[in-house]
This record gives sequence, C-alpha cells and structure tokens, in this order.
Amino acid sequence: MSNSVSTPGVAAGRLPAAAYRENFSDLHPAYDGHEAAVAADRCYFCHDAPCVTACPTSIDIPLFIRQIATGMPEAAAKTIFDQNILGGMCARVCPTETLCEEACVREAAEGKPVEIGRLQRFATDSLMAREGHPYVRAAPTGRRVAVVGAGPAGLACAHRLAMKGHDVRLFDARPKAGGLNEFGIASYKTVGGFAAREVDWLLEIGGITVELGRRLGDGLTLDALRADFDAVFLGIGLQGVNALRAEGEETGHVRDAVDFIAELRQASDLSSLPVGRHVVVIGGGMTAVDAAVQARLLGAEEVALVYRRGRSRMNASRFEQDLAASKGVRIVTNARPVAVIGNGAVREVEFAHTEDGPDGLRDAGETFRLRADQVFRAIGQRLDGAPEGLEIAGGKIAVTGPGRTGMAGVWAGGDCAAGGDDLTVTAVAEGRDAAEDIHAALS
Ligand SMILES: Cc1cc2nc3c(=O)[nH]c(=O)nc-3n(C[C@H](O)[C@H](O)[C@H](O)COP(=O)(O)OP(=O)(O)OC[C@H]3O[C@@H](n4cnc5c(N)ncnc54)[C@H](O)[C@@H]3O)c2cc1C
Ligand code: SF4
Repeated sequence: MSNSVSTPGVAAGRLPAAAYRENFSDLHPAYDGHEAAVAADRCYFCHDAPCVTACPTSIDIPLFIRQIATGMPEAAAKTIFDQNILGGMCARVCPTETLCEEACVREAAEGKPVEIGRLQRFATDSLMAREGHPYVRAAPTGRRVAVVGAGPAGLACAHRLAMKGHDVRLFDARPKAGGLNEFGIASYKTVGGFAAREVDWLLEIGGITVELGRRLGDGLTLDALRADFDAVFLGIGLQGVNALRAEGEETGHVRDAVDFIAELRQASDLSSLPVGRHVVVIGGGMTAVDAAVQARLLGAEEVALVYRRGRSRMNASRFEQDLAASKGVRIVTNARPVAVIGNGAVREVEFAHTEDGPDGLRDAGETFRLRADQVFRAIGQRLDGAPEGLEIAGGKIAVTGPGRTGMAGVWAGGDCAAGGDDLTVTAVAEGRDAAEDIHAALS
C-alpha cells in the first residue's frame, strides 16, 4: 500500500508524483519580455535612488531598469554583474522586501514597489543564456591567491581576482561548489539546477582552479596556504548548528534543519525523501521557514514552526512568514522547547510559554505539548573550525574594513566574518570588496 499524508511516523512518497513537481516549482516565475517592459515602466528612475543605497552590492538599479525599458536587457545584466557577479542567484533569493523593494519610493507611495528582483532576474537570465562569458581577464600578474570556501563570498572573491589577472586556487570541503546556494537555499527559489549552472558560468572567466573535497584543517593548513600563496581569502561560512538545550534532544528523528534541506536540495527524486506526518521546526529565521515550508511541500500533514519570542522578533521577513502561513505552516510564538519526548523516536515536544520581561526572556509558568514524528533544529548556525591564530569577535572571524583579518595576508568575508547580515548578497559584496583590497595590496 502506498503512503499518504496521514501515514503515521516518518515516511517517503506521501504525495502523487505530479504534486512534487507542482509544489517545488519556481516561487516567482520568470517575466517574459512584455511583462518586464511593463514592470520597468513603473520605475521613476530616481536621482539618488534609495533602492541603490539599500542594495548591499550597490547595483545601479535605475540604470539597469532603464536599460530594460529601452530594450537592452543584456546591457542591464552587465550593469548588475559589474557590482554583483552572482546577480542571477541574488535576483532569486534576496529578501528584496526588506532591501531594495522596501526602499523603493513606489512602495512608500502606493505599497507596491517596482519589482526589482524579478527585473534583475529577467536581465541576468537574458545574458546568461548567451554563449560565452561577459568578462575578460586582465594581463597575468603572476600573483597567486588561495580562496577557501566556494560559497557566494568565495566565488565573488575568486571571480574579481581572476578578472584582475591573478591566479586563483579555490578550495572547498564539499564535493560540489556553490556553498549554501547549492546546499541551503530553498528549492523553490532556485529551480532547475541554477546554482550549479551559475558556478559553471562564473568559472568561464578562466584563471580559477577549483579543488573540491579539500577541507582547511584536514591536511590543508592556513600556514601552508600563507607560505604557498601571495594572499588567502577565507569564505568558510558557518558550519556548526546550535543545540536546542532541551532534555531528550538525542531522541530519534530530531535533526538539524540544514542537513534536511541539504539532502532535499541534492535529491534526484523528492518522493524518496522521508518526512514526518507531524513535524515541529524550532527557530525563527529563514532556515526554520525553509525547513517548515519544504516539509509541508513534501507532504507532512501538520507542520508547526515554534519560535521563542514574538513574531516581530523573528529573523524571517514578513514575506517569509506569510509564505509559511500560506503553505499551511502553523506559527507558534513565545514558546521554548524544554523536553523531547519519545521512546527511541520522538513522539511529542514539550514547550514552556515565554514572555519578554525587563531582564530578557522568561518562562511564563505554563507548558504545552505538540505532537511530533520529526523535529528540525533551526536555532542558528555558528562558526566551526576557524583556523587557529585568527582573532574571533562575537563568534566570528574579526575583520576590519574590506575583510582584513589581524593576520598578515589573510582576508575573510561572508557569514564567517564578523559584521554584516547573513545573506547571499552580503556575502557577495564582502567577497568582491576583499578581492579589490587584495588586488590593491598585491599591486
Ligand atoms: C537554509 C538556508 C536558507 C537560506 N536562504 C537564504 C535566502 O533565501 N536568501 C538569502 O539571501 N540568504 C539565505 N541564506 C543565507 C545565505 O545562504 C548565506 O548568507 C550565504 O550562503 C553565505 O555565503 P558564504 O559564502 O559566506 O558561506 P556558505 O554559502 O556557507 O559557503 C561556505 C563554503 O565554505 C566551505 N567550507 C566550510 N568550511 C570549510 C573548510 N574548513 N575548508 C574548505 N571549505 C570549507 C563550505 O563547504 C561552503 O561551500 C540561507 C541560509 C540557510 C542556511
Ligand atoms: S526607488 Fe523605485 S522608482 Fe526609484 S529608481 Fe529605485 S526602483 Fe525606480
């Protein structure tokens, strides 16, 4: 007998094949030429445009929208890529509702911004569909730079350095490049293997040698890289996951949300992925929302996302919260897990109600239980395995200016570096800016 949404426990194949295709299709389908022209027409091409200031990579948004409006999408793409070489991915995954589109004057005036993200995707997709790469390398400098981590920060850094004529060796611990673009971002934001295609396209610049399955700290040391290369950039992201600190956390079917998402992103057949009938996700950020929504899309009958504070304190944007609610995820706020209950496998999770007091969060004195066949931890990631000798600030690698660490010849950027939001676009900006600084230092 085949499984369904009401099959008890954790089971694969809860949905008919067509439902998986539909559930995991593109969240914001691409514009066609006419739709893009209409959307571009809404832009006022503001002087001192607030949308540009709100973009961490400072893309000249009015310029690229004008280029689309005048029928030059490939020139528009070049405007974007000059600032953000992962502009294709950022067009899909940026929380534009809290960045450029929130700042758009038409959002303030009418509550409906120019759809900058979708226009960016239209432009970047147009150019990426063409043969060849839009940038050529400068004359070789003879300088060699090691970039550790092939996520957005490392890729942006490597591309900019290669453009400047340096030789780049890009190391990553995983078997595939892309970082969380490949292993983390929700499937419905980046469909059709886009992350891998974007990496291939970026590498067409030349001058970047990729070494996969090479982990810093595992036969590869920072001292050796500093001795062999003229500069080192670290873009190693956040590999650790915070514990729940709830009794019984080791019970079966309690796992890290990032592992579940990585498995989902790499699955060739979504119907083979087991998911609980009753799923509880603990956390309040993008990872929590992505795990909760994708659990629902895989056929979980009930998914509750439980966050310890109020909705306004959730790291997930209002758009993400509404997306979760629209997919049937129940959002429970002001509750923290105290115990995972089950004999071998989780059956229930006990929570304590919380309230914000003058001395921070405190228990309100009442508890409740939620049914759970599967629990996902999504209460934040932390830096693991930073090389010794680097100064750490707030749990991340301390940097000044464009990613300079306290160690000569070593830069860092993206999620692993202190300061900045943990966003794809911020990682790209930091990788790019560190590359410019490395170039200046080597010139
Ligand atoms: C589930 C999830 C969903 C997200 N969704 C969004 C979203 O929708 N929009 C958004 O803007 N942001 C999102 N983010 C955040 C975004 O993915 C990150 O901010 C971004 O990927 C950071 O880029 P990075 O290059 O610093 O690190 P990563 O993308 O983490 O890349 C780091 C790379 O370093 C490699 N590495 C690590 N340690 C070593 C080592 N010791 N040696 C060699 N290689 C190593 C890793 O294998 C990895 O490839 C999400 C994050 C998660 C976890
Ligand atoms: S703020 Fe809005 S209207 Fe003004 S330039 Fe930016 S996208 Fe166009």
